[in-house]
Amino acid sequence: MEYRIKQELKGLTPYKPGKPIDEVKRELGLEKVTKLASNENPFGCSEYAKQAITQSLDELAIYPDGYSADLRNKVAKSLNINESQLIFGNGSDEVIQILCRAVLQKGTNMVSANPTFPQYRHNAVIEGAEIREIDNIDGAHNLEGMLQAIDSETRIVWVCTPNNPTGNYINEQTLYKFITRVPKEVLVVVDEAYFEYVVADDYPDTTKWLNEFDNLLILRTFSKAYGLAGLRIGYGMANEQLIQAIEPAREPFNTSSIAQAAAIAAIDDTGFIEKCRIANRSGMAQFESFCHSAGLTYYPSQANFILIDFEVSGDIVFDYLLRNGFIVRSGEALGYPTSVRITVGSKEQNEEIINILTAFLKEQR
Ligand SMILES: *Cc1c(COP(=O)(O)O)cnc(C)c1O
Repeated sequence: MEYRIKQELKGLTPYKPGKPIDEVKRELGLEKVTKLASNENPFGCSEYAKQAITQSLDELAIYPDGYSADLRNKVAKSLNINESQLIFGNGSDEVIQILCRAVLQKGTNMVSANPTFPQYRHNAVIEGAEIREIDNIDGAHNLEGMLQAIDSETRIVWVCTPNNPTGNYINEQTLYKFITRVPKEVLVVVDEAYFEYVVADDYPDTTKWLNEFDNLLILRTFSKAYGLAGLRIGYGMANEQLIQAIEPAREPFNTSSIAQAAAIAAIDDTGFIEKCRIANRSGMAQFESFCHSAGLTYYPSQANFILIDFEVSGDIVFDYLLRNGFIVRSGEALGYPTSVRITVGSKEQNEEIINILTAFLKEQR
């Protein structure tokens, strides 16, 4: 049967998630398998969030609040922005999809870094837009090249900072100047999925630019540092008129009542986020020190993952780690074929995977 599917979908493959833990256990006969592949929080989520979920269980028969009023109020207060400047999504992935549905079509184009988060391209392709990906320089966005790629048909320029999969970030001055140089009709989408992990002093607070740039949209999520990836909730922030304009592309009940309740509670647990941020930096130091002593290069990362270059196919490192009970992400699928992206885990997990990597290098050399 020849289904009459949109031409745009034919070149796309469905997202390949990191291998599920249970499948790896079964296939390789391993008792313990640790997943450091999807930048999930190794410490889980806040206890407040779990309590809020339990309390929301009696409401399951009722549709969620489509406007996410309570969560909206909470996020707006905590970030000092207006409630009308927010749009919530079933993960920030969905906000990316909503944006693409709202502004892209055949004849338009989008500009992004390369490699970067693949969902920008994926959703833009489905909408029939032209993709303009500008190669990174040393793991960082080539912002000058991205500016040059913008023309009268450009609708979105994507900025991912810290960038996935490199971990590089863009400092305040550089990002500010970049936004001033993007034509006002072009949306600048700044994806800050790893915002809570950043410790660099010159990382910008982009929310304070929202009133100055009508074309700025900032993405954040509860999936990473907040440890709520399984619930699917994220959001975008922008000028009120822009939010209103894209709202019709959002499903009426796109975020669940449980996710909303958990996110509200999670925001209150600032201690949990602080603890995770500190633990992440210590874990990052474990990996950096391993790289230094092993003579491996990596990109300095402000996120909760590190992209390490092993100078052999990332698939080889991936397979070795898998056989030893660790799931990571091979750089072959991420545009850095000789690298591996490892999520920073707990201290013990990091020690374990570093020991395995040390053994791997010994066998290689
Ligand atoms: C993980 C990630 C997201 C998506 O997160 P959601 O779970 O959909 O909120 C968005 N952008 C980047 C760069 C990410 O790494």
